[in-house]
Amino acid sequence: MSTLLARWLSDYRDLLLPRWMAALERKLAPAMTAGALAVDDMPEIVQHPDEQRVLLASMYEGLIDAAGGDYQQLDECLRLLRALRTTPGEDELPQQLALIFQLRRAATGLIYAGRHAGNGPSLPPYDEHALSEELEELLEYVAVTSASRWVSAAAGVSRELHDTKLLVESLYREAEATDRTTLHVSKLNEITQGLTASLDPAQQVAVVGEKLKQGLGVDVLQVWLYSEQAGSLDLAREWADADAAELPALRIASADPGDLVARAFRDAAMVLEHAPDAAAQGPWYRASFAVLAMPLVAQRRVTGVIVLQQPEAGILEDRAEQDFVRSAASQTAIALENARLYDEVRSFNAVLEQRIAERTQELQVERDMLETLNEIALEISSTLDENLLMDGLLEALAKLVGVEHGSIMLVERETEHLVDRAVLGEKRDVGYTRFPIGQGVVGWVAQQRKPAMVADVSQDERWVAPRDDEDDHKRHGAMICVPLIAHHELQGVLVLSHNEPGYFRDEHLRLLTASASQIAIGIHNAQIYKEVEQQLMHRYEMQRRQEEAASQSAAILQSLSDGVIVCDAYGSVLTVNLAAERILERPIEELVTWQLPELLKRLLGRRAAELPVEEMLAHPRDEHDEPRTVSATFQVANRVLSATLDPVLSTKGGLVGAVAVFRDITREVESDRLKTEFIGTVSHELRTPMAAIKGFTQLLAMGSLGALNDTQKEFLGIIQTNAERMIAIINDLLDITKIETGSVELDMRPLHMAESLSSVLLELQPKVQDREQELAVGIPPGLPLVHADAKRFNQILLNLISNAVKYTPRGGRLAVEAREVTAEVVPEPLREGLRPGRYVQIEVRDTGVGIAPEELEKIFERFYRTENPLKVEAGGTGLGLSLVRPLLKLFGGRIWVRSTVGEGSVFTFVVPAA
Ligand code: ADP
Repeated sequence: MSTLLARWLSDYRDLLLPRWMAALERKLAPAMTAGALAVDDMPEIVQHPDEQRVLLASMYEGLIDAAGGDYQQLDECLRLLRALRTTPGEDELPQQLALIFQLRRAATGLIYAGRHAGNGPSLPPYDEHALSEELEELLEYVAVTSASRWVSAAAGVSRELHDTKLLVESLYREAEATDRTTLHVSKLNEITQGLTASLDPAQQVAVVGEKLKQGLGVDVLQVWLYSEQAGSLDLAREWADADAAELPALRIASADPGDLVARAFRDAAMVLEHAPDAAAQGPWYRASFAVLAMPLVAQRRVTGVIVLQQPEAGILEDRAEQDFVRSAASQTAIALENARLYDEVRSFNAVLEQRIAERTQELQVERDMLETLNEIALEISSTLDENLLMDGLLEALAKLVGVEHGSIMLVERETEHLVDRAVLGEKRDVGYTRFPIGQGVVGWVAQQRKPAMVADVSQDERWVAPRDDEDDHKRHGAMICVPLIAHHELQGVLVLSHNEPGYFRDEHLRLLTASASQIAIGIHNAQIYKEVEQQLMHRYEMQRRQEEAASQSAAILQSLSDGVIVCDAYGSVLTVNLAAERILERPIEELVTWQLPELLKRLLGRRAAELPVEEMLAHPRDEHDEPRTVSATFQVANRVLSATLDPVLSTKGGLVGAVAVFRDITREVESDRLKTEFIGTVSHELRTPMAAIKGFTQLLAMGSLGALNDTQKEFLGIIQTNAERMIAIINDLLDITKIETGSVELDMRPLHMAESLSSVLLELQPKVQDREQELAVGIPPGLPLVHADAKRFNQILLNLISNAVKYTPRGGRLAVEAREVTAEVVPEPLREGLRPGRYVQIEVRDTGVGIAPEELEKIFERFYRTENPLKVEAGGTGLGLSLVRPLLKLFGGRIWVRSTVGEGSVFTFVVPAA
């Protein structure tokens, strides 16, 4: 488009625009008042003059742009002009056209009048023709645009009209559907109310059928319900036309393949058939009818089917109707399910109530049982006397179970028999009925360790029938036996019986089985108690005796005049008696605190070694297995004590300890001393007169004082002999006294054995010859010298050999033998105090009268002489050996003797070798 018109429109804006507006206002105003422009919504365009002017001004600018080729603003204005209206009016196009023509008129007027009227020197001249051409072209565009817009708007309107018509139609249809829905809803509402009003399935079915039929208006309506037991669908009810015959009770197997009711049930889905195969359907089907079968589904469980039948499918095909049936069906299903649940709950309640009643009954029985057990426990704890206990238990059980007979049979350990130990109501001697284990009902129970309940014993094969003479035995009736087991050990069997067969019931068995272990333990305890009591009594008696013995020994110990100290195997002082306290002059409390060796050391100083307690405890027996004993004499202060130490050995020979016995021998020693002194004095005093007697007798015998006749000579001889004997006795006594008082003087030196022996034998030779005895002497070459006092040693040899001569009958044999030995040859009791080293042993043997064993030690005592056939002939004083023994001891030697009466004696002594 040329810019000519654009320039012109722009140049003439101030002239043209006001004219256009004015023309338009003029044109419109009379039309409006006259009503020529009957456009209802016109005022919307021209409503406000300013708005109209703005629009026109804007449109004018659009025209300028359009004249320049840019139609955007003009189109916008035209659109705006139309958009200002809500609905396209038929009068709009003319009005717009009028608007365009107003502008055309005003513009044409100006184009042609312009150059005459002149608008000022500033306006350039325009080609009028070209201008009006362009103007025409532009306005044509506006007119065409408006018209085409209007046409398309009008087409839109007619389309909308069509739509509206369709809408109305559909609204009408919807209203109709709504009515039906409303009917359905109200029917459903009624159904719901009807269903909730009752919990009786028959009534619920009636409500549903009635309302559905009303709501749908079908010819036939049936409700089928599923029966779980039968696995079939049963016709609950049918609604049909009045003239239809009443249907009999109908049933469809739920697995029926052809039956469409069964199919709807199985598939849990609606089935609609216009013309089902009549042959496959049951008598429920109306021939050639269309059928709709709707399952009753609640919680995924199908409980039945609603069946609708009518000659034409009709409403059965309608979705809404189907939905209605579905809703009704699901409501019904839920209601039926609720009714079923309710029924279940009710019957469950009934069962529950019954269970509670049963349990209450059971509890009652259990309580009774517990009471019984309690009573039994009371009975058991009331006594520990076995017999009382069993009697009491039987009585308690009899009372509880109501029996007439009963007994407790216990196992007799020696025979393994069951023996009755308590019999109900009978105080007679028990131990009368016996059954080996395994025999009879009780024996069976004992063997099997199982209870037995026998309805009638006479019918039981285990039953051992009583002998005819056993009158008081039962021969028929019921019996119940339970084993009594305590600590896994069979104690016995409890037996209860009743004359009435079948009397016992399970609860009796339960009761007895429950009490059995308690009873068994009770009896077992009572038995143990009895045993323990007996043992206790026994122990008590033993203890009493021991205590008595102990107190007696204690009393004896205390009343001893000798002091006694007993120590244990480790030397600790155990007992000290009163005498010990007195003799040792130490309080008992002090004595008991020491070890015995310590105590002896304190009392005896170095000489305690003579009572070697530790050694004694270490070796209580000697080589002959005899208990060792040690004794010694001590000077304690101004008293003399003799002490003996012995081992204390139990009866079985085990070492218990040691006992030291102390005796105060001060007075004995003193009196001994006085006696010795007296003997010494008397002997001394007798020696002088005896010497005088001897001298004068010798004088008389020599005849120097006058001749003597034979009788006188004989008498003088007797006097002389007796005087000599008396002098010998006195000499011996003096010697003994000297030895005992320790005043003997010894000249100890090495001596030749042969020398001493030959001088002695020389002295004795006449006597030996006189008695026709044979004397053998044996001295081995190289025999050591002996260490002794020569005079005293000769005295010893003389004594022993002269005894052998004296106490051996005529013609007997004598022997003297010497040899070198060690201290070992000396018998154990004598060995004490012997120095080790070499000794010379001399043995003097004879075939004489011999010495009895009990006299072997006594012959060493003073004045002791044995009774023997040669006693008188031998003469003697009984002092010789009592001198020999202490003398040898002074030399450091020992003497001992072996002898057999009538056979001979062997005197052996040892002296240290020089
Ligand atoms: P006696 O002077 O009586 O011989 P002894 O003291 O020597 O006194 O002996 C005491 C007693 O011992 C004798 O009386 C005698 O009974 C007995 N006796 C001593 N040696 C022998 C012997 N070899 N055979 C038998 N009996 C003897």
